[in-house]
Amino acid sequence: MSNKNIDVSTDVARIRKDLVECRRDLHAHPEMAFKEVRTARLVAARLRALGVGVKEGVAKTGVVGLIKGGEPGPVVALRADMDALPIVEREKKPYRSGTPGVMHACGHDGHVAILLGVAEVLAKRAKNLRGSVKLIFQPAEESPGGAEPMIKAGALRNPDVDAIFGLHMWNDFPVGRLGVRPGPLLAAADKFEVTITAKGGHGAAPHQTPDPILAAVHAIQALQAIPSRLVNPLEPVVCSVGRIRGGDAFNVIPNKVEFAGTIRSFDPKLRPKLPKMVRDLVGNAVHALGADFEMQYTMYYPATINDPDMTEVVDGVAAGLVGDRNVDRTVQTLGGEDMSYFLNEVPGSFFFLGCRNEKKGLCAPHHSDRFDFDEEALPVGCEMLVRVVDSYLGRGRKQ
Ligand SMILES: [Zn+2]
Ligand SMILES: [Zn+2]
Repeated sequence: MSNKNIDVSTDVARIRKDLVECRRDLHAHPEMAFKEVRTARLVAARLRALGVGVKEGVAKTGVVGLIKGGEPGPVVALRADMDALPIVEREKKPYRSGTPGVMHACGHDGHVAILLGVAEVLAKRAKNLRGSVKLIFQPAEESPGGAEPMIKAGALRNPDVDAIFGLHMWNDFPVGRLGVRPGPLLAAADKFEVTITAKGGHGAAPHQTPDPILAAVHAIQALQAIPSRLVNPLEPVVCSVGRIRGGDAFNVIPNKVEFAGTIRSFDPKLRPKLPKMVRDLVGNAVHALGADFEMQYTMYYPATINDPDMTEVVDGVAAGLVGDRNVDRTVQTLGGEDMSYFLNEVPGSFFFLGCRNEKKGLCAPHHSDRFDFDEEALPVGCEMLVRVVDSYLGRGRKQ
């Protein structure tokens, strides 16, 4: 380990207690998408206290901080998301949510605490930095998305960002394990909504009207041909119908059935073909039974695709910090993340920070009303990001 890394470890160890306190404060005060007012105020105040330049109100509640290095060089950005979820927290811990029906159930409280910790460590050593560090605190990751509006509001410009990094708490991994992978890490998330219409009639006289319920059954079954037949089976795709509504009485054929679902995919070349696949499969099934339909297809976040060179930077740092055998290079999920928008603008890498601890009973999944993580993950995340900045800005320089 170089002297520089030992210094980083010492600096992070020094703020360990503060990271936990900050995280618990944020956890007790969760805020929903674009309503992260208290969180943003806290972030801005903490950054100002460190002497970091701050822009507030970037895409409503977003905050951008800039640590100017003492020497000229590239601009590296770090991103944390700030929003919570509409969930009633079940566990009665001292730092539980004080806002009814809102909960930090994904770990974004940890992301904010970590990035504030990084700001503290880096602000102290600003004059030795060859380049600058932009700290992006974004709203509304869970939905409808704060990354894209922040980019539109200029978060990656003035000064222009050369590379971006970020992390997500990852409950599938124990604390001390990291997920680092080049290429697609998270999926593109799309939504389809279908309404099937028919005349409706008596359950005993099905020949007098198309049956929208049978049409919906055929259509939903047909959709499974997307992952199993229409797409290369070596290419991960999932199609799940999560909602279906239709009918009131057991002996009446209704005149309408609605269903909606999600399709997840990694390959940006495959994605534009998906709406037509859905339309054709649903259309054939519905029309064969004489019913009509309408469909809406909405593309949400694109796939989160890590740049290979930038992922090498993260990988090297990860192996140095937690040991090579604690770096998982196979991790991939069909979940979505709007970090993807940043990664589509500038090269960068997003990685997973293990935060599970079976012994402490911290193993409820993300978005569960019992979700919590091992706070030992906070210093690991903090040290990772500081070292990634050092490694990126120090590239091409003799150590
Ligand atoms: Zn989430
Ligand atoms: Zn999340």
